[in-house]
Amino acid sequence: MNRSILLIYTGGTIGMKQDPDTLALKPFNFNQILEEVPELRKFGCRIDTYSFDPVIDSSDVQPAFWVKLTSLIRENYEKYDGFVVLHGTDTMSYTASALSFMFENLAKPVVLTGSQLPIGMLRTDGKENLISSIEIASAVGPDGHPMVPEVCIYFESQLYRGNRTTKYNAENFRAFRSANYPVLADVGIHIKYNTSLIRYPLDWNAPLHVSQSLDTNVAVLKIFPGITPAVVDAVLNMEGLRGVVLETFGSGNAPTAEWFVGRIKDAVRRGLVVLNVTQCHAGKVDMDAYATGVALKREGVLSGFDSTTEAALTKMFFVFGQSRGNDKVNKLLQSNLRGEITI
Ligand code: ASP
Repeated sequence: MNRSILLIYTGGTIGMKQDPDTLALKPFNFNQILEEVPELRKFGCRIDTYSFDPVIDSSDVQPAFWVKLTSLIRENYEKYDGFVVLHGTDTMSYTASALSFMFENLAKPVVLTGSQLPIGMLRTDGKENLISSIEIASAVGPDGHPMVPEVCIYFESQLYRGNRTTKYNAENFRAFRSANYPVLADVGIHIKYNTSLIRYPLDWNAPLHVSQSLDTNVAVLKIFPGITPAVVDAVLNMEGLRGVVLETFGSGNAPTAEWFVGRIKDAVRRGLVVLNVTQCHAGKVDMDAYATGVALKREGVLSGFDSTTEAALTKMFFVFGQSRGNDKVNKLLQSNLRGEITI
């Protein structure tokens, strides 16, 4: 039986073309994707397309966009074997992370991809990214189930778990990194799936559940040498704030100055949830390693383990949307929900 893929275009560089007169980049009519990538006709699967209208630069992505995108996938979930989402690279890791939490019991691939050079340019990386993404989204294992039933990002020969990625390079074709989790597949002459690293559902028939209630009363506070009480106060005293992703140094360390620790302590007492992630690109938070981490732990700061900031932030949106009570929130934040942390 022929496989079927829904190819969703949301915007971003991949769908752009150079205007021959002005040489400026502008979005092309996505319905003409087959003209730009005639190779798609050679696939042995059906590829239907859907274009957002208007398409957006991914810097304009908002939670409302994630709601729209998850609704679209939910409405088409039974009709297709997999989904490929073309998305700008700038916030692709945020979208992939958010989607991973919003979808529960996902049993089909949702592969996000894009490109550094528009698909209408000669040296584009977009064609390979698109073609391999479709191949991965339609791949099945010997048991007939999808090879990668996860929200992933495919870019420059590598398939990543979406909620482990960060956009790392604004110039290079290898734009993404997943520093704390190995790739799910390596694409060369063959596509080599690392099946032991892929998450497979316990029950393939469990109904897909989509959580669209996201609470965005969350801030990211990045610590830096010279940070002042005024900066910390401005963030921690924001009205309605429920949670803070605290981007700390090294293995989860922050200044030990009394004014700083005192403010964190006070915030936690007021009911704010503080989640500690490292500013480092790789490695994890260990609040027992140094006195500077111990102080935070003592005041009730939670470990974000080896989470990216993108995953920590969107997980907080999701978890706060699930519950008003901090006991449940803390429990969910300390749990590995979609493979986003190693514990
Ligand atoms: N600014 C673009 C976007 O994220 C960049 C890209 O697509 O790579 O939408």
